[in-house]
Amino acid sequence: MIKNITVIGSGTMGNGIAHTFAQYGFKVSLVDINDESLTRALQTISGNLDRQIKKEVIDESVKAATLNNISTHTDLKEGASNADLVIEAATENQDIKLDLFKQLSNICKDGVILASNTSSISITKIASVTKNPANVIGMHFMNPVPVMRLVEVIRGYATSDEITNTIMQLSTHLGKDPVEVNDYPGFVANRILMPMINEAIYTLYEGVAGVAEIDTVMKLGMAHPMGPLQLADFIGLDVCLAILKVLHDGFGNQKYAPCPLLVNMVTAGHLGIKSGNGFYQYTSVNKELIVSSKFKS
Ligand code: NAD
Repeated sequence: MIKNITVIGSGTMGNGIAHTFAQYGFKVSLVDINDESLTRALQTISGNLDRQIKKEVIDESVKAATLNNISTHTDLKEGASNADLVIEAATENQDIKLDLFKQLSNICKDGVILASNTSSISITKIASVTKNPANVIGMHFMNPVPVMRLVEVIRGYATSDEITNTIMQLSTHLGKDPVEVNDYPGFVANRILMPMINEAIYTLYEGVAGVAEIDTVMKLGMAHPMGPLQLADFIGLDVCLAILKVLHDGFGNQKYAPCPLLVNMVTAGHLGIKSGNGFYQYTSVNKELIVSSKFKS
């Protein structure tokens, strides 16, 4: 019986995952090495719950109960020792994840399910550093987690049928639509999405068209709700670069090589919404999309 959830990493995804589980009555321990990130996560969750109240999706009592279900921790042992299910949503970096799963394997109770929200890193590799690889699985939520229905459930090479079924059922219980896939670089979602985003960045880099023009073509021409450059800003350009590197290394194919413009932007700290500047500029007041001054002719 899954009751206690530990979410590791309280950034873009971690706060959304914590919000969703807490709203469905689970006790959530949210863990981050960065205290400020935990404070920001609680503020974001509170703001997102207010938005749900405004839309009359929930009332004040649900907001209070949801916040009451979340505790925050900077100590991994304190946050994870009582977990029935851990969902890791820390930075997309293989060394960080392997180190975390090695520690979790020693800290957690027997029978714990260890899940990763990784966008692209091998679940089989992550499982290989734990004591019980059959209980390790990918639980890939989409951003923003409380709104998006898909959960890509990734079976590592050693993941058991029982654990896969448990995670499929749990995702359905959260009001999501889970889809089971196998563990190869980028899984399904990012193997298809990231080459499109990378190609949009190459199209800009080669001067074929500007930021707004590229996004407009894809929005109006392909009925995408958001253009690929805006979507990249929304995901985080550092996250996009990390995923493309995994695809490039994993398949050894030049078609996944990250565009040099993306590499430059990440090196310069222009990471999209989270840093305030990417292909577009973001301030707390601007309601309309404003193309970054870097890309204005
Ligand atoms: P983020 O940069 O917003 O947040 C990462 C958080 O992890 C930070 O708060 C950081 O302090 C924390 N962290 C780093 N090392 C840690 C450690 N050892 N222990 C505890 N906390 C640690 O990143 P994000 O966008 O939320 O991505 C998190 C994961 O979710 C990544 O694996 C990413 O690929 C995946 N993901 C991201 C998206 C997206 O749209 N951003 C979508 C699906 C999946």
